[in-house]
Amino acid sequence: MSLPAAALADGKGALTLGAYSSPKPFWERGARLDEFGINAVLVGSGAIDDALLRRARAEGARVFAEFAAFNGSGWLKDGRHSDAWPVDETGKPSPKQTWFLGVCPTNEEFLRWRLAELEKLVSRYSLDGVWLDYMHWHAQFEDPQPGLPETCFNASCLERFRRDTGLHVSGAADILGRHERAWREWRCSIVVDFARRVRAVLARHAPKMLLGNFQCAWRDDEHDGARRRILGLDLPALAKVFDVLSPMVYHGRSGRPVEWVRQNVEWLAATVGGVKVWPIVQAWSDPHGHKVSAGEFEHALRGGLSGGASGVMMFTIGAVAEDPEKMDVLKRVYRGLAA
Ligand SMILES: [Zn+2]
Repeated sequence: MSLPAAALADGKGALTLGAYSSPKPFWERGARLDEFGINAVLVGSGAIDDALLRRARAEGARVFAEFAAFNGSGWLKDGRHSDAWPVDETGKPSPKQTWFLGVCPTNEEFLRWRLAELEKLVSRYSLDGVWLDYMHWHAQFEDPQPGLPETCFNASCLERFRRDTGLHVSGAADILGRHERAWREWRCSIVVDFARRVRAVLARHAPKMLLGNFQCAWRDDEHDGARRRILGLDLPALAKVFDVLSPMVYHGRSGRPVEWVRQNVEWLAATVGGVKVWPIVQAWSDPHGHKVSAGEFEHALRGGLSGGASGVMMFTIGAVAEDPEKMDVLKRVYRGLAA
């Protein structure tokens, strides 16, 4: 498969040939990032240190930190901060959805804590950018059978909804019965508002850093419009705040054929303008489920660079490092594109 013309629009050198998660397993195989054509690594904020930054840069790679937005698992652990637990339309705490637990995204104490953590990260390390992860209302979209609860109707959200919209509402039934449209739009605005606050932190401390976002890869019409309706994600509005959107096109985990990667990236690039698209594709094999072959990984990687995308990365570089055939694929594809 040759590289689509759109991906070449900025010139070949502009492509971001990325690797997600700590490159340590890759380095432990004796490999170098530049030898494989990798020019960017995207690493969880907790795994960033000076040695990693030095080595990645010495091998020609930019370093981006993944930063969790609305992941409530640590904050809500052991019954703490119960006021930040997402509440469903019956007034009960909304349960964890498989492995994921979100948070009430209007809980100001939680939000300030995340922004303070971000400030520490970008002040401490000279990074090339920050990628927000888990930035959506509580739900699970990474499983073939998604968990899509209606949240959040706690005191904080009701009060903020009333204040922002001027609507007099008595509770969840009233909102969903009479003001559903305003509610869904307001939920999207809450997510955009947080993204803007993150942007403001970068503007103060690290204005040159790129701001990216790992995104749910559903189209508008899938799951009854759940990306907007339940997750609260308005792509055109988010595209105005972020420099890069990274749809998580995990075909195996989502129970989709590998061709879906290309189709989804083409759809996204055509739907949002003015923002770069760097998808993250699946290299990882589920020990209890779908195994991603080296051939499938190649298909996903090339599909990820179609339709106007100007970068790609894989979940995860560790999964590539443990399979010599995937290492060969990575080297061939990236070196071919970087040449
Ligand atoms: Zn809430």
